[in-house]
Amino acid sequence: MARRKKIYEGKAKTLYEGPEPGTLVQYFKDDATAFNAEKRDVIEGKGVLNNRLSEYFMTGLAQIGVPTHFLKRLNMREQLIRAVEIIPLEVIVRNYAAGSMAKRLGLDEGTVLPRPIVEFSYKNDDLGDPLVPEEYIIAFGWASQQDLDDMVALALRVNDFMSGVMYGVGIKLIDFKIEIGRLYDGDFQRLVVADEISPDSCRLWDIETGEKLDKDVFRRDLGSLTDAYTEVATRLGVMPQNVTPVTKPTLIN
Ligand code: UDP
Repeated sequence: MARRKKIYEGKAKTLYEGPEPGTLVQYFKDDATAFNAEKRDVIEGKGVLNNRLSEYFMTGLAQIGVPTHFLKRLNMREQLIRAVEIIPLEVIVRNYAAGSMAKRLGLDEGTVLPRPIVEFSYKNDDLGDPLVPEEYIIAFGWASQQDLDDMVALALRVNDFMSGVMYGVGIKLIDFKIEIGRLYDGDFQRLVVADEISPDSCRLWDIETGEKLDKDVFRRDLGSLTDAYTEVATRLGVMPQNVTPVTKPTLIN
């Protein structure tokens, strides 16, 4: 098999050189990490599910005119994407208090927020991705004021889309994280949604029962992560046909 050039290896994905200039192949691994990689495991089938789910969300976003880096899914674990310059910020949108916000403000998880709140963390594992005010972002030159305005607008469109899609299958979108990249067209720069959108980077609660269907299942040892992600994929109708959920063996007579 021809060896491809590895460009970057992250915690959940690996990037390889793409077939044409300006493209990359994004490979979804089964590795799960939490708490800045202090907790780690391999969850069989997670990469396949996230590849499908991210394809589904990115394709839907493109259909409503939100630009993304996604080009096409290549196989069970890989997708072709545009090479972008990632802005070193995690863009977090929250509809309900949870996780670090609930802790910081002493709010009960699930408290509805007065409006969707967009916040930024500086992408730096050594520092534990600290929350940063917009003033830092501009002062340190990570993004301009114009970029920030565009990022907030983009993030809120993703929020509306994702909230609606999830609501349609009985799931509440509590919060999520996206990464945004710069795509250059000559001197012109465009901001696009990059990285992935999957239950690894969202909080998803069943509307009826409040059951968690996202990475908190792994973070908080609440059961099978594959079952949770499979539930999301099945409700959305994007469950890959040829993946047998590893946690549900079927007896063959
Ligand atoms: N998130 C993420 N990657 C990170 C940090 C957060 O995908 O490195 C997502 C997380 O899954 C949640 C949202 O961003 O949907 C808000 O996370 P929060 O700030 O509450 O952090 P956490 O509680 O995960 O530490």
